[in-house]
Amino acid sequence: MATFDYELFVIGGGSGGVRAARVAAQTGAKVGLAEESRMGGTCVIRGCVPKKLMVFASEFSDMFEDAQSYGWDLDVGTFNWSKFRPKLHAELDRLEGIYRSILSNNDVAIHDARATLKNPHTVSLSDGTEVTAKHILIATGCYPVVPGTPGAEHGISSNELFLLDEFPKKMLIVGGGYIASEFAGIMNGLGVEVDQFYRGEQILRGFDDEARTIVAEDMVKRGVNLRLGVNVEELQKRDGGVWVKDTEGGEQLYDQVLFATGRRANTDGLGLEQVGVEIGSKGEVVVDEYSQTSVPSIYAIGDVTNRVQLTPVAIREGMAFVETVFHGNPTPVDHELIPSAVFTQPEFGTIGLTEEQAAAQEPIEVYSTSFKPMHHAFAGREDRVLMKLIVSKATRVVLGCHIVADHAGEMIQLAGIVVKLGATKEQFDQTCAVHPTMAEELVTMKEPTRTT
Ligand code: NDP
Repeated sequence: MATFDYELFVIGGGSGGVRAARVAAQTGAKVGLAEESRMGGTCVIRGCVPKKLMVFASEFSDMFEDAQSYGWDLDVGTFNWSKFRPKLHAELDRLEGIYRSILSNNDVAIHDARATLKNPHTVSLSDGTEVTAKHILIATGCYPVVPGTPGAEHGISSNELFLLDEFPKKMLIVGGGYIASEFAGIMNGLGVEVDQFYRGEQILRGFDDEARTIVAEDMVKRGVNLRLGVNVEELQKRDGGVWVKDTEGGEQLYDQVLFATGRRANTDGLGLEQVGVEIGSKGEVVVDEYSQTSVPSIYAIGDVTNRVQLTPVAIREGMAFVETVFHGNPTPVDHELIPSAVFTQPEFGTIGLTEEQAAAQEPIEVYSTSFKPMHHAFAGREDRVLMKLIVSKATRVVLGCHIVADHAGEMIQLAGIVVKLGATKEQFDQTCAVHPTMAEELVTMKEPTRTT
C-alpha cells in the first residue's frame, strides 16, 4: 500500500477548508493545509466579518437621528475612517490568529504557500516542497470579477475597499447583487454620497419581487442614489478621482468606483485540469453530492464549487466530506431551504421559494403585510417593513418566508427552523404572538393578500 505524507491535504484556509481540516484531524488523521494568503479566507478577512463590522459602524447614523427623535440631545460628529480602520484590522488579525490556533491545536500542519496539483495524490508548494496525500480537498473559494469596461482598472473590488487609505466622499457602486447593495447601504450610512448603477430592472435579482422592491425603495429613502437600467461605459483617472461615463451619456467624477459585479471560482493555475478534474463553464470545480470530483482522490467544497456561495454552506460541505471520507458514512449535503440574509439597510432575510417561483410551481396563497413599525413611526422615519409567507394551497405548507426589517437576519434564522420542518400556515397561526414586535405579524396574518 502506498504511504502518503498526509491522509488529507486541504488547499485553502477559508471557512470550509479550516473546518474540514480540523474535523478530519480530530479523527486522528494526519492533515496538512496550504493557504497562500491570510488564514480565514474571504469570510473572515475580506467578506462577511469586515462587512458586518462596517454595517454596525454605518447603522449609527440612523441611530443618532432616531435618538434625537426619542428625546436625546446629541451633538453628532462624522465617521472617522482613520479611527475605525486600524480597529477593524486589529480585529481581523485577532480572528486570523484564532483560525491558526484552531489548526495548530488540532495538529494540522500549516503551509503558508500556494499549492498546485502535480498528480491526483501530489501537491507542489510555492516554497519548493512537494507533499503527497491520500485525499486532497480543494477549498479555494472565489475572487471578485470586474467587467471589461474601458478603464475598469481604475475601480476597486470589495477586497480593496477594506484597505482604503482615504475614505471617499463620493462613490459609485456598480452592480445590484448582495455585495453592491450591502455596500451601498454601508457607505451611505457612513456619510458617503453614493450612486449605485444596476443594469437590470431591479436590484437583488432572483429574490422575491415584492421584498426586493421594498428594500430598493427604502435604500433610496435613506439616501442611496439608485439608478436602474444604467451601467458604466467608460472610466478614466482624472483630477485625483475617477471620471465615469454612463450608458445614458451622463458624466460624473467619483473618489472611488466599486465593482461588485460577481465572483468567479478560484481554479486558475491550480493544475486541476492537468490532473483530470472536471471544470464547469464558470470555472467551478464540478462535484457530485458527496463533493467528490471526477478524480476520486480529489474533493472540493465551498464557493469554488459554485453550489451555494455562503459560509455556513461551505462549513456543512466540509463536515459532510469528513463524515463521508473519514467516518465511512456517505453524507450528501442538503442544499434545500437554506435561510440567508442580505445585510442591506433595511436588512432582508429569506428562506424558500419566492412568490414568483412558487406561483410557477403550484396554486398558492400569499400572506403579506407591509407597514411602518412602531419604532420608525415614532422616530418619523419613512421605511416600511415586510412580513411575507408563501403558502401551498394543496398542502398548506409554508413554502417561503421573506422579511424586510431591522434584524431580519436574526428573525429568518428562527423562522427558518420552522419552514425547514415543513410547518403549515395553520401551525404558524397556532403560535401565540409576541407583542409588541414586528415579527408577530408572521403569526397573525389571517386572510391571504392574494391567491394564484
Ligand atoms: P451577485 O452575483 O449577487 O451579483 C452580481 C451583480 O453584478 C449582479 O447585479 C449582476 O447583474 C451584476 N453584474 C454582473 N456583470 C456585470 C457587468 N458586466 N456590468 C454590470 N453589472 C454586472 O454577486 P456578488 O458579487 O454581489 O456576490 C457573490 C456571492 O457572494 C453571492 O451570490 C452570495 O452568495 C455571496 N454573498 C453573500 C452575502 C450574504 O449572505 N449576506 C453577502 C455577500 C456575498 P445581473 O443581475 O444583471 O446579472
